[in-house]
Amino acid sequence: MDPLGLVPLARTLIDIDSTTGREGDCGRWLAAYLRYLGWTVDEQEVSGGRVNVIAWLDRPEVVLSTHFDCVPPFVTSRVEGDLLYGRGSCDAKGTLAAQVLAAERLRAVGERRVGLVFVVGEERGSDGARKANGHQLADGCRYLVNGEPTDGRLATATRGILRVKLSATGRAAHSSRPDLGESAIDKLVDALVRLREQALPDDPLLGRTHYTVGLISGGIAPNVVSPHAEAEVMFRTVGPLAELEPALAAIRDLVHTTPVLDVPAIHLTTLDGFEVASFPFTTDIPFLDRWGQPLLVGPGSVLLAHTDDEHVGIGELEEAIETYEALATRLLA
Ligand SMILES: [Zn+2]
Repeated sequence: MDPLGLVPLARTLIDIDSTTGREGDCGRWLAAYLRYLGWTVDEQEVSGGRVNVIAWLDRPEVVLSTHFDCVPPFVTSRVEGDLLYGRGSCDAKGTLAAQVLAAERLRAVGERRVGLVFVVGEERGSDGARKANGHQLADGCRYLVNGEPTDGRLATATRGILRVKLSATGRAAHSSRPDLGESAIDKLVDALVRLREQALPDDPLLGRTHYTVGLISGGIAPNVVSPHAEAEVMFRTVGPLAELEPALAAIRDLVHTTPVLDVPAIHLTTLDGFEVASFPFTTDIPFLDRWGQPLLVGPGSVLLAHTDDEHVGIGELEEAIETYEALATRLLA
């Protein structure tokens, strides 16, 4: 076999189903391919045959990193004109292929301090990144260049997530005598209305914190005053969680608040000469913090990721090779 070009490499990866939880085959293929190219490769077990693929030459000072798990459903690759379609074309196997080719170009000119960190599980809880953060090569690495769809722009910042469960407790009673009960649903509704009136943290790069009440449930029957009610609120955060605390404190006389998931907002390293933008999504970066100062850039649009129509421009992928090569060179200089 000859080394694969950009599109054949991306298509080979896309055509191996690596929906989150089923990344084993794709990881093993990728590890074998990088070994064939001449890299030292660790298949780092994450769970049930799912492996992170970590590759290096000399001890890495810069790593190019992304994930190779995908959201369902699996969609095989196809090329139409100058667009590459298929699950993972944009998020993030196209990126992964561009990173491999950039690292190969650097190796060809004798640069041996660039490593590759490809992880599983990004789309569901980042278990791959958490595991990769404990790899023995992480300490000593200076920069982590993470790849997610940013339309080729260097990210200045990404929003975080705080998922909070709100639980209200009441006392059941026959609905003909509401005075004998205490409605948990009324308390929950009052809490949600009051939450709307709270001032939420603002950040110059990311804008204002916003949130979605994504789930709501409660009560037992139409003719019973509700003894319990719950909602889940997902905040897209812009700074330290402490800044959100006053808004939650303002509703705690009505509901219990239980944090379910917390991913911090991140401010990233940028370099002169690259177009920049801030992004509303989260990435693996908070869980890879031992790999050095983070940068975030990748080809394609996050608006196409996770859609039935997922695709990326082949020209954008080619530009991404140059971007990763130029970034690594600048960071190592
Ligand atoms: Zn992604």
